[in-house]
Amino acid sequence: MAESLLFDVLVVGSGAAGLAAAVSAERAGARVAVATKGSLQSCNSAKAQGGIQAAFGEDDSPEQHAQDVWTSSHETADRRLVDVLTGEARDAIHWLEALGVEFTRENGGYRLARCGGATRRRLLQVGDRTGYAITAALREAFEASKGVVLPHHPLIALRSTENGWVATCRQKTGDHVEIEAATVVLAAGGRCWKEAEDRGELSTNHPGATGETTRIAMEVGAEARDLDALQYHPNGGVWPSNLQGYSIPETTRAYGATLLNAEGERFTDELGPRDAVADAIFLEVDEGRGVTSEAGRPAVLLDTTRIPRTDAEISLPYMLRRYRAAGIDPLEQPILTYPVLHYQNGGLVIDEQAETTLEGLYACGEIAGGTHGRNRMMGNSLLECTVFGRRAGRAAAEKARS
Ligand SMILES: Cc1cc2nc3c(=O)[nH]c(=O)nc-3n(C[C@H](O)[C@H](O)[C@H](O)COP(=O)(O)OP(=O)(O)OC[C@H]3O[C@@H](n4cnc5c(N)ncnc54)[C@H](O)[C@@H]3O)c2cc1C
Repeated sequence: MAESLLFDVLVVGSGAAGLAAAVSAERAGARVAVATKGSLQSCNSAKAQGGIQAAFGEDDSPEQHAQDVWTSSHETADRRLVDVLTGEARDAIHWLEALGVEFTRENGGYRLARCGGATRRRLLQVGDRTGYAITAALREAFEASKGVVLPHHPLIALRSTENGWVATCRQKTGDHVEIEAATVVLAAGGRCWKEAEDRGELSTNHPGATGETTRIAMEVGAEARDLDALQYHPNGGVWPSNLQGYSIPETTRAYGATLLNAEGERFTDELGPRDAVADAIFLEVDEGRGVTSEAGRPAVLLDTTRIPRTDAEISLPYMLRRYRAAGIDPLEQPILTYPVLHYQNGGLVIDEQAETTLEGLYACGEIAGGTHGRNRMMGNSLLECTVFGRRAGRAAAEKARS
């Protein structure tokens, strides 16, 4: 027989979005549970290296940030969501700092990098383990609260009731548990791991990124948008074999690495929007100007030798360690790269409070669509998780009380 649990707010997923929602809902006075598929640590968010965008530069503004998102999305993003994202970015950074995240600083301010599609230096970093630092701080905050953690509880079904929602989760034993909650926040991420498996391609994603929660939400009537718009990370690792599919931080290009073909020629603007850079690499290889790895995989060269040593040591230490451990020093020789499936641009339709088209059902993070339109800029996903996770948590707690 199915066991039954009761909460004000149920959060599904323990990445940055789910944890930000859970912490916010709990702080707003709600009884909160986080049900997640694997361990609490298992998510894409913790793998994020590059950084998080916020307009702190003297020549920058939330409006300029919004304009860059709009342009990079090829004018397909939801402007209302974009304005929320960029307008609350600085506050989101301060909130993360209050939870203990220490962003890399220099000259009395944040160390800011310019990332693909951005017209200003706007990317804050914690070395090259930004997502790890953010999720660790959020996890500690939630674990120190009265909130309940339900690891190894994948959501398998959802239904609405007079008083809210009932979620069915599977337990490790194979038994099912029914969780009643006035409101539910879906933060189960995207589907690129499964999509890559189905296509026989590589992905940067963790194995939990399988997308069934989007399907479950759509089956109960939630609307979605742009689900066909999947994003390739321009710089997947190709060689050595243990780094195949590794997401080489795009800050390599921000700090001066160039993309070269087999002739040693540059062929694209390395700081163009993600889709433009990935497409340029595909084209170069398709037209026979690429190189082939020892394992026979297609690639171009990322000339990381152009990155100043100090920048690499401050902002790319983890990447350097991984390559050097595999016998390649990226500061001494170019590395091989090829685009790899990375991110689900589209997702469930939400409003400014992160509510889906169904009352009391919220969505935030990669599972939600609209904020990036059909092409996300790097560094805006961790930001989206924080900004809309907080909004979802607060709104879900408030609605649960009403
Ligand atoms: C290698 C890598 C590098 C990246 N670098 C950056 C970067 O530098 N900057 C940036 O902004 N973005 C980056 N991204 C993108 C960004 O990290 C993710 O898009 C974002 O963190 C997604 O957060 P999320 O909370 O929505 O989902 P996730 O972090 O993927 O979390 C989803 C959670 O839901 C759980 N889940 C899934 N299905 C179910 C289910 N059925 N029931 C219960 N739980 C479920 C998962 O186990 C997981 O805990 C990167 C992504 C990757 C993979």
